[in-house]
Amino acid sequence: MREGPAADRAPSGLELRERVPLAPLTTLGVGGPARLFVVARDVAGVRSALEEARRRGVPAQLLGLGSNVLFDDAGFEGLVLRPAIPGMEFREEGERVTVRAGAGVEWDSLVAAAVERGLAGVECLSGIPGSVGAAPVQNVGAYGQEISETLRSVEVLDRATLERRTLPAVECGFGYRGSRFKGEDRDRFVILEVRLSLEPEGRPALRYPELERRVKEEGELDALEAPEALRRVRRVVREIRAGKGMLLEPGEDRPGTAGSFFLNPVLDEASLEELRRRSAAAGVGPPPVYPARGGWKVPAAWLVERAGFPKGFRRGDVGISERHALALVSHGGTAAGLRELAEDVRSQVRDRFGVALEIEPAVLGPGGPAPAGRSPGSREGE
Ligand code: NAP
Repeated sequence: MREGPAADRAPSGLELRERVPLAPLTTLGVGGPARLFVVARDVAGVRSALEEARRRGVPAQLLGLGSNVLFDDAGFEGLVLRPAIPGMEFREEGERVTVRAGAGVEWDSLVAAAVERGLAGVECLSGIPGSVGAAPVQNVGAYGQEISETLRSVEVLDRATLERRTLPAVECGFGYRGSRFKGEDRDRFVILEVRLSLEPEGRPALRYPELERRVKEEGELDALEAPEALRRVRRVVREIRAGKGMLLEPGEDRPGTAGSFFLNPVLDEASLEELRRRSAAAGVGPPPVYPARGGWKVPAAWLVERAGFPKGFRRGDVGISERHALALVSHGGTAAGLRELAEDVRSQVRDRFGVALEIEPAVLGPGGPAPAGRSPGSREGE
């Protein structure tokens, strides 16, 4: 395998490298090399990289901080582009504060900076791995808060026209852990910058009983100033995530993981009834159910465990996290092993409970998206 600069054939200023191993650039730690790899630190760099892929007639694949992607063992036969656009700026606008952050900024550092300034609106999204640019794609959310609540707009580059556009939140098509960037406009835009509107001196959102209980165990929040209260919520969220193996610290000795490997399904009334009937017949007790926009959320982890894949399950070099049944892990395994395990989990869950789980990370073949998972919200029998 050869890795190195390919400046001979690249336009000036474009740092194009060849045969770059992708496994170390992802938190799962699997996947072969990218034929071409570019880190773009500004919009011009993103444009040139896309032009270069077009000129060479190869597909271009975006890569953020690698926490939600599964590359093929054969790698990617095209150009992998990391939009590493830096910068974070806070500006008072009336009664709110707008933060503008480049797509390459680490999401959790944006949350940390907001919390330190006493700005409320993203504190429950502490510890979510990934980049700012990737956050709107799946409308990242946790503990009852999601980015769509505070997002004002995103700056994008249209990959077809290479033109820059501003998309206000209402045009982003946000839904439960989804958006137009993951749905109908998948692969159409490069997100360059995200703008959020946060609340100065705001109080933290405590919408989930587990979070509220753990935060209040340390004393009432009302007595605390805004940054102190937000700081506590941020710390507790990170502690809860760490307990579930969902806090990915750099340099930590842990198996490869992409966090949640399956989305929590949202079922309609009929599918929920079917699930309840099958659960009762299987003697596994009633599933936990929470109301959701347009249906009923059921924890995917509950389904995975009861379909025969408990925490700590191991098959060769891949398995299920010891701390959370929603995370597939790699102990030096392969993408093929992970995909096979994921398909087995999906088919057991479907056979036992009639629920079709959707895979959360982007699963990529050597030439682009691999045929795995189903469309968001898909259900057995639809
Ligand atoms: P969890 O808290 O055990 O929740 C599992 C499922 O039950 C989710 O569908 C969750 O809804 C729902 N749920 C649990 N308690 C609820 C309550 N009090 N009210 C309403 N719904 C409730 O899940 P987890 O896997 O450990 O994850 C913790 C949090 O991180 C969750 O909010 C999860 O969504 C979030 N997370 C998000 C991403 C992402 O954005 N891609 C990835 C991993 C985890 P919600 O999903 O609406 O919370």
